[in-house]
Amino acid sequence: DTIGDNLDRAVAAYGERDALVECATGRRWTYRELAAEVAAVAAGLLDSGVGKGDRVGIWAPNCAEWVFTQYATAKIGAIMVNVNPAYRVHELEYVLVQAGIDTLIAAPGFKSSDYAGMIEQVRPACPELRQVVLLGSPEWMALADRGRGADPALLAAAQAGLSADDPINIQYTSGTTGFPKGATLSHHNILNNGYFVGELCGYTEADRVAVPVPMYHCFGMVMGNLACTSHGACIVLPAPSFEPGATLRAVSEERCTSLYGVPTMFIAELSEPDFDSHDLSSLRTGIMAGSPCPVEVMKQVIDRMGMAEVSICYGMTETSPVSTQTRTDDSVARRVSTVGRVGPHLEVKIVDPATGGTVPRGVAGELCTRGYSVMLGYWAQPEATAEAIDAARWMHTGDLAVMDDDGYVNITGRIKDMVIRGGENIYPREIEEFLYTHPDIVDAQVIGVPDAKYGEELMAWVRMRPGAEPITVEALREFCVGKLAHYKVPRYVRVVEEFPMTVTGKVRKVEMRAQAVELLG
Ligand code: ATP
Ligand code: MG
Repeated sequence: DTIGDNLDRAVAAYGERDALVECATGRRWTYRELAAEVAAVAAGLLDSGVGKGDRVGIWAPNCAEWVFTQYATAKIGAIMVNVNPAYRVHELEYVLVQAGIDTLIAAPGFKSSDYAGMIEQVRPACPELRQVVLLGSPEWMALADRGRGADPALLAAAQAGLSADDPINIQYTSGTTGFPKGATLSHHNILNNGYFVGELCGYTEADRVAVPVPMYHCFGMVMGNLACTSHGACIVLPAPSFEPGATLRAVSEERCTSLYGVPTMFIAELSEPDFDSHDLSSLRTGIMAGSPCPVEVMKQVIDRMGMAEVSICYGMTETSPVSTQTRTDDSVARRVSTVGRVGPHLEVKIVDPATGGTVPRGVAGELCTRGYSVMLGYWAQPEATAEAIDAARWMHTGDLAVMDDDGYVNITGRIKDMVIRGGENIYPREIEEFLYTHPDIVDAQVIGVPDAKYGEELMAWVRMRPGAEPITVEALREFCVGKLAHYKVPRYVRVVEEFPMTVTGKVRKVEMRAQAVELLG
């Protein structure tokens, strides 16, 4: 099936059930209504000259039109390019040119950013950009109206000419470790991934899934949208961009059964001052993913949010995204402390990065994965593709992991984040997990900073519980001594209000390192 075929099937099966709710405006669509909007946009795009393989950019915060665009492009085989809502002119121009975007669908602006103005600024440098359609503008209405008036046979013919292996999406990576790369993904890649993620969450048409994570990233558009529509569940968009209060309200008002987030989002929700006033009793499950999921936070999500069946997923943009997931029948201990086992129809192995040989169970190495989920390649970057995917189609993730005898995987760090202090390999993740157990620390991140004597030294950045005294380096070291090996005890500490973040809610350690180097002079 293509994504369009899959949506048609959902309409036939779940036509009158809720498909999509936009809490910010109160708008809602049943499957039949959603499909009608999608068909209008798809036919309108066709009519405006967009065809199979053409790139259609979408630059907007979470909104219903984002979802319409996703399915509309899939119906006509156009390649949707998710443009990061945080981008500014420089990055916008890069993605428009790099992906050769033909049509850009964009919000006129968001918060203090004037998207329309930025588009006009970069337009002269983007010769391939043929049309810009601003959401809510007369052109957008006209596009959908033209679609409604078009001969339905044209859309049906366009859809019939597609193959599930066609590229359908260019997803840029988060840019946590460097410049984002565009992963080219097919219907087959992302539709299957959404389907299996939804299946392991046990989704049926009774589920209502709160998706506060950005649509522009695979967590939102695959594990959110595609997982929902392939099982008849309802997508609930709490707000245009993440707000902890709005998310909790959406869960309680829409009676959501599932809630998504990266760890920082759950941390923010759990520390909302009026947390206890929200009725979260409808929550059954949810997904935490995207970066290391602290055991403490997982426990609170289960105990205080009632998400008894919550799962952790591990994956990356390049693998559509999920590679491993915890299952509801796993023990609680494993569900909070591992990223689960390999997903259906996928393979995972852990290799020695130096030799490429598979390491024994229990030994750390680079996680590699193979199967339907591996991207077609990086868009227009054949060398980067060849570095990431080997001749046997194994994707080398750059993540360090350990697999136990029963196949449960632990992510121990990222090769790029590993700190080497005086010859010892240190995985910041381990120290972060430990710092979370300090009663006054709500969030902790550890990086390596250059050091004349040891090569690298550890610096902890911490966020304190509201009202708590900022921790001193002496107090932090005292907390660690005797519980962590001496070389893992951070040499420096910095108390901060916020970490530098990506829009996907990940801590940008590259940025932290740059700031730390400057600070230490
Ligand atoms: P870039 O590749 O541009 O530096 P990125 O790798 O953060 O950015 P994504 O594709 O969004 O971009 O994220 C994938 C990465 O997120 C994985 O490689 C892994 O390091 C991390 N990750 C995802 N899920 C988990 C998880 N459950 N536990 C630990 N790490 C995770
Ligand atoms: Mg990456």
